[in-house]
Amino acid sequence: MPFRIVIVGTGIAGLSAAIALSNKGHKVTIVEAAFQLQAVGGFVVADANASRCIDQLGTYQKFVEKCGIDHDRILFRRYADGQCVFDIKNTELVDQFNYPRWGVHRADYQQMLYAGAIERSVEVRLGCRVVSVDENCPAVIINGGERVEADLVIGADGVNSVVRKAIIPESDITVRDRGFDVTRVNYPESVILSDPETAPLMEACNGPVGCIPMQPVRRGDTKILCVDYLNPRESDSAPGGARRKDITKIRAYFKPYTSAIQKLMSYVDEAIVWQLHDVTLKSWMSKSGKVILIGDAAHAVLPFSGSGGAMALEDSLALAECLDHASDIDAIPKILQKFQEIRKPRCELIRDHGINVSHLWTMQDGPQQQERDKIFKHKMGFGPQLPPRLPLGELPESPNVPTFQPWLRGYDILEFTKYQLAK
Ligand SMILES: Cc1cc2nc3c(=O)[nH]c(=O)nc-3n(C[C@H](O)[C@H](O)[C@H](O)COP(=O)(O)OP(=O)(O)OC[C@H]3O[C@@H](n4cnc5c(N)ncnc54)[C@H](O)[C@@H]3O)c2cc1C
Repeated sequence: MPFRIVIVGTGIAGLSAAIALSNKGHKVTIVEAAFQLQAVGGFVVADANASRCIDQLGTYQKFVEKCGIDHDRILFRRYADGQCVFDIKNTELVDQFNYPRWGVHRADYQQMLYAGAIERSVEVRLGCRVVSVDENCPAVIINGGERVEADLVIGADGVNSVVRKAIIPESDITVRDRGFDVTRVNYPESVILSDPETAPLMEACNGPVGCIPMQPVRRGDTKILCVDYLNPRESDSAPGGARRKDITKIRAYFKPYTSAIQKLMSYVDEAIVWQLHDVTLKSWMSKSGKVILIGDAAHAVLPFSGSGGAMALEDSLALAECLDHASDIDAIPKILQKFQEIRKPRCELIRDHGINVSHLWTMQDGPQQQERDKIFKHKMGFGPQLPPRLPLGELPESPNVPTFQPWLRGYDILEFTKYQLAK
């Protein structure tokens, strides 16, 4: 049965949910606080599981044409001497997981999803900040007092979600500060590429001060390269939002890095920093069973595992598939419960993986780091020697077991959701 659905937020979660739900014939409206789509941000990885989701949404061709940058390899270097720590060819990933790993500029990614939503007649209302939620109707109340009513409200409004605050008791929300910041720096790409010392640096690099995912993230004539690097907390970030960061300090932090990286940092003309948190909830849905959270609003994770966006895509496809099993409005609460059972265990394991990786990527030199590099040399669990795929429905015991990486990247959310719904 087609439902009237209101989604809050035009991030990866909100837009992909709009596409998945309108593919199923639902009538979707999105309300977004910003007056235009946010065209900011750096590099995002779409791993094989995300690529599969984009295909299942019916937007893969557009994605490949408009924004995907096919990396021929994932290459990580030691920060101090530039030596290769690991090097995996994308063709190996395709052999293993059937889909490649893409690099995408966040703004292009969002534009592609936005175009997909508009093509499917989704109504997108920009400049509509949700200020409260009536979970029983359900409805959202936007600035100015207008009520937008629906059969189902989806909160896809990010890590500082207002919908979450309105429907989940404070005692059931855990927002953890793990002591990491993200620093966003802008480089004039043309300068970097024309300098023979910095041009090969368009690759990733990890070290104790920061993990730098350096990639040429935008096609076309963009001249500014924006990089979000992840770093253990420094004194100049503060809770409650982004701040401008002192560039001379950044240059000092990166003193132990190769001369090429130091040179790169000398080109930085602007930097902002903000604190990272992960979010764990007892429940993702309202007591009424008519409002559900997805994406970062439900389960923000540290970005070290590069999976938050992929989890948002998986949420969207799973939710649309689950709603197919709701024969009428009264069946929605039970089906949302099922959706949560399907999604929560995976998202929580990936949260733990993000925490583990945060320490791996930013280790000080020493025996632990040497041990880590030995493991990385063996391709971090990728490659033909991989353990066999876990039986459908089974979870890896922890992010540290060999079956974790294939489970993370080889996952087919539609296959898994259908399997769980049929049980
Ligand atoms: C530095 C960094 C690197 C990352 N790298 C990767 C990666 O490589 N791969 C990956 O898969 N993931 C990555 N992630 C995670 C990924 O970016 C997020 O998980 C994903 O973007 C979350 O999308 P979302 O739609 O849930 O939330 P958001 O993108 O935060 O979108 C929320 C939307 O809701 C709107 N909104 C907020 N409040 C209101 C309101 N009151 N009313 C109306 N609208 C509102 C906002 O304006 C926004 O448009 C990274 C994250 C960071 C920080």
